[in-house]
Amino acid sequence: SVPSPNRTQNRQGPPPAVPASTTPPGPPVFTNTPDTDPSLPQNREWGRRILERVPSSKLGIDTVRAHTLSSEDDLERVLVDATAAGRAWGARSGAERARILEQVADVLEARRADLLEVMAAEGGKTLDQSDPEVSEAIDFARYYAERARALDEIDGARFVPSTLTVVTPPWNFPVAIPAGSTLGALASGSAVVLKPATLTARCGSVLAEAMWDAGVPRDVLHLVHADERSLGTKLVSDPRVDRVVLTGAYETAELFRSLRPGMRLLAETSGKNAIVVTPSADPDLAVRDVVQSAFGHAGQKCSAASLVILVGSVASSRRFRDQLVDAVRSLPVGAAHDPRTRMGPLIEPAQGKLLTALTELDDGESWLVEPRRLDEEGRLWTPGVRTGVRRGSRTHLVEFFGPVLGVMTAADLDEAIAIQNEVDYGLTAGLHSLDSDEIARWLDRVEAGNVYVNRGITGAIVRRQPFGGWKKSSVGAGFKAGGPNYLFGFGSWEPYTWDE
Ligand code: GLU
Repeated sequence: SVPSPNRTQNRQGPPPAVPASTTPPGPPVFTNTPDTDPSLPQNREWGRRILERVPSSKLGIDTVRAHTLSSEDDLERVLVDATAAGRAWGARSGAERARILEQVADVLEARRADLLEVMAAEGGKTLDQSDPEVSEAIDFARYYAERARALDEIDGARFVPSTLTVVTPPWNFPVAIPAGSTLGALASGSAVVLKPATLTARCGSVLAEAMWDAGVPRDVLHLVHADERSLGTKLVSDPRVDRVVLTGAYETAELFRSLRPGMRLLAETSGKNAIVVTPSADPDLAVRDVVQSAFGHAGQKCSAASLVILVGSVASSRRFRDQLVDAVRSLPVGAAHDPRTRMGPLIEPAQGKLLTALTELDDGESWLVEPRRLDEEGRLWTPGVRTGVRRGSRTHLVEFFGPVLGVMTAADLDEAIAIQNEVDYGLTAGLHSLDSDEIARWLDRVEAGNVYVNRGITGAIVRRQPFGGWKKSSVGAGFKAGGPNYLFGFGSWEPYTWDE
């Protein structure tokens, strides 16, 4: 294993502690975990050594399937065991659970290299994408520990955790998302059955091992590898399961609901997110943020920018477009184990609506940058930018979940907001503008859970930018991930009574 670099040497390390006498009143400061700083030569060397161990071909799900796929008997045992363990776990104090979560944070930090390796091998993640994911998982552990302690201190009501939560994360954030959902449920006092996405099953195993080794009891956290269609369906429909956490497609959430009416679902679902660029914007910053948001992890994020809406003179001038084209064409595309890569492969060969989006244009559209397939399999594509995108078209409304960006134009900010709000989803939204009136108007009217001004629209930071959607970007109940109320989704409140 490659030991973690000395993190105190990171230039962007945690800020120095504020002397007690000057600590401002209000809630305690939460310090986010720093990412590994690639400007330091020793960190680049550390990264190179991790990538050397990543095989050049994708890790197959077949290996996982052959050795660890759970059986129906296993599943029954897990459900019985977890239900009993959940009751005992929920009876412990929030502070006791918090201590274990803090140990989880330390173990995840110590295993950063192992997590990056398996994310590259299995998920095709480049280090600039996977390293922040480990930081986010650590932040979830520390922040939900803080929130678990807070549960002990609420007067006049008692939080009663649900007994058993099933967590079904996606493959695109194979560490941060399962970590966040699992740790949130554990912090609240619920037992968890974690069923990783089959495409990134090993990431789930490495994560669960870290949690067990940190002190999460084996009967409180169970790992089940199951095919989505058969055993996975059985798991989420079992009546002993109190809560199901899903991050995935809107259609999957609908399917889950149809499996068991009354299922308590906490689902973060699809997005079709746009960044608006007005004439007052700094074009250099806007281009940088659009490119990062559209093509980071090859666009395979619910939060990704799949549209950029150019307003007024930005729409009619060549300058912004030329800058955008140059930036997109300059993105080095390649394998995840190659340290030069900025945009890695797709998780699977492009198919369905993504393949169509990479190869066919709709009426009125043309390629500003035409995507090219670089491998036989169809996993490696150069990024694509479509222009002439019409309101109401597929490119405007349908989530492609890959490296395709659509360029739309609007006469003014109001029209841009209308275009942005016309989609069924409302996960993330961005505005690049240096005009405070524009910013205020946009913030007031845009329909999205996470709104970002003069910043990219991916990479929400725990506690500072709680993450969750509006409209068809969320299904069921639940609070924003990484926010102060997230734990409340995993239980209910009971008032104290006199005879207690
Ligand atoms: N939380 C991630 C972000 O802010 C997105 C998660 C997702 O794609 O589901 O980029």
